[in-house]
Amino acid sequence: MRVRLPGGRITPQQLEALADLAGDDGDLELTSRGNIQLRAVTAPDAREQLAAVGLLPSPSHERVRNIVASPLSGRIGGLVDVRPLVSDLDEQLCAAPSLADLPGRFLFALDDGRGDVAALAADVEARSGTLFLDARPTDLPATVDTMLAAAAAFADLREDAWRLRDIPDGAVGLARELGGTVVGPRDVPAPPGPPVGWLDQADGRVTLGAAPHLGRIPGRTARFVAAVEHSVTITPWRTLCVHDLDEGPAETVVRVLAPMGLTFDANSPWLQVSSCVGNRGCARADTDAMGAAEQLALSGALSGRVHVVSCARGCGAPPGPHELVLLGPR
Ligand code: SF4
Repeated sequence: MRVRLPGGRITPQQLEALADLAGDDGDLELTSRGNIQLRAVTAPDAREQLAAVGLLPSPSHERVRNIVASPLSGRIGGLVDVRPLVSDLDEQLCAAPSLADLPGRFLFALDDGRGDVAALAADVEARSGTLFLDARPTDLPATVDTMLAAAAAFADLREDAWRLRDIPDGAVGLARELGGTVVGPRDVPAPPGPPVGWLDQADGRVTLGAAPHLGRIPGRTARFVAAVEHSVTITPWRTLCVHDLDEGPAETVVRVLAPMGLTFDANSPWLQVSSCVGNRGCARADTDAMGAAEQLALSGALSGRVHVVSCARGCGAPPGPHELVLLGPR
């Protein structure tokens, strides 16, 4: 089950519901689009449980609610606060019947000017007020209306294309459809390090950035995060942020959650390694990619970014430079 979280935002109540569905033996898997996946869910009324906490606002549009946003926007740095845009874009996307047929891989991004989610090269992106199409700047303003108009124009042009980059000169054609023009080459910034550790907010409060081992939060740990009762953002770097904490409670949160497998150290080797699920959840795998990745993280021998996979399909590879470790047959 993949649960889409526009902008990565999730309330404590929603997080608790997902922790209940995962159970004490299951994990919440964070995805590279800031969503959450659960495997082997057995609750027959899982959809109802999701709907009850607002995680399924539009069943017809569930596959297309792919919106990433700068996770620290409005709290720390950035040029604009994109949080209101996330809500508007999601609501108006769900209200447009024709956009329910967008491909599930089509991605919207709202970058607040720091160039973090810009690194994901979304199909339609708002970057510092400018509309980018497939990471190419245009002379069009980035508003909810222009972003949705761009998505609708893509739906008309796409034939069998999944992403704008699959259409030759797709960005140029799309800008023309919108009455504008592309004004520069593709501009994809290097992916930043994930926001991990103690992060001071502009209002004097604190955001805690935490990295779960291999991007998976055990159900029990997720229940503890929910119990903090503060806003949480899942980032596209498979980490999470707990926002708006006062200093005293923030120190308590670190003391409680660090022993439960959440890393608050930006230099931790756990931030250097990732893996596909391997034989712990994929029928194609006959090797333990997660186990091999865990050994690497604990070895002290990592000198750069490594992604471990059980087959050549290479699922879950992080953006940016990394070494791919393909496990041989068992
Ligand atoms: S890389 Fe292969 S083994 Fe790993 S999750 Fe993907 S399909 Fe399964």
